[in-house]
Amino acid sequence: MTTTEVALDVLFFRRWMAELARAIEDGRDELTRLDAAIGDADHGINMERGMTAALSALEDAGDLADPGEVLRLVGNRLVSVVGGAAGPLYGSAFRAMGQALGERAGLADLATAMGAGLEAIQRLGAAVPGDKTVVDAWAPAAAALAQAATQGEPLWRALSLAEAAAYQGMLATIPLRARKGRASYLGWRSEGHQDPGATSTHLIFSTLASAAF
Ligand code: ADP
Ligand code: MG
Repeated sequence: MTTTEVALDVLFFRRWMAELARAIEDGRDELTRLDAAIGDADHGINMERGMTAALSALEDAGDLADPGEVLRLVGNRLVSVVGGAAGPLYGSAFRAMGQALGERAGLADLATAMGAGLEAIQRLGAAVPGDKTVVDAWAPAAAALAQAATQGEPLWRALSLAEAAAYQGMLATIPLRARKGRASYLGWRSEGHQDPGATSTHLIFSTLASAAF
C-alpha cells in the first residue's frame, strides 16, 4: 500500500468535524474580535452556530455510509444555518468536498476534495488570492496538499504541510487591502488586520491535521 492509498474513513471525517467544532468554539471570541476590526463582529458567532448545528445533524444522522456523506451533511447545515458571507461560502465548499470524496478517501482523494472546496468558494465569491479572504489561506493549503499527494508524502506530513501553508496564508492577509466582502468597504483601513475568514480556514486545516493523529 502506498502512502497515497491511506484510508480516511467515516470515523476520520466525523473526528475532523468534531475537532473543528471545538476549535471554532475555542476561537469564537478571537474570530469575532478580528471581524470587529474590519467587519461586523459576527464571524465567530456565525461559525460557532454553524458547526454546532452541523455536529448535532451528524449525531442525529446516526450511521453514515461514506466520508462524502459526512461532509455533504455539514455543508447543508452551514448553508441553512449560517448567515453572512461565510455560511454560503463554507457550506458550498463542504458540499463540493463531499461530492468529490464519495465512498472512499485516500490522500490523493482528500487533496482533490480540498481543491473542489476551493473551486466552490471561488465560483460563489469570485475572490482570488490577495483579496484578503478565506481564499488566501485555502488556496496555498490545497496546493500544498496536492503537491504532497503527488510526491507520495505520508499522510501526517502532507497534512502538516497543508496546515503550515494555511497558517502562512492567514498571516499574509495582515498587510493586504480587502477587495471582497464587508471588509472591502473599508478600503485602505482594512490594511494591518488579519482576515477573520482566513483565520477560520486555518482552523479547518489545523483540525484536519490533528484529526489524523
Ligand atoms: P459577513 O462578512 O457577511 O459578516 P462573516 O463575518 O461570517 O460574514 O465572514 C467574513 C469573512 O468572509 C471574511 O473575513 C472573508 O474571509 C470571507 N469572505 C467575504 N467575502 C468573501 C468572498 N467573496 N470570497 C471569499 N471569502 C469571502
Ligand atoms: Mg461578519
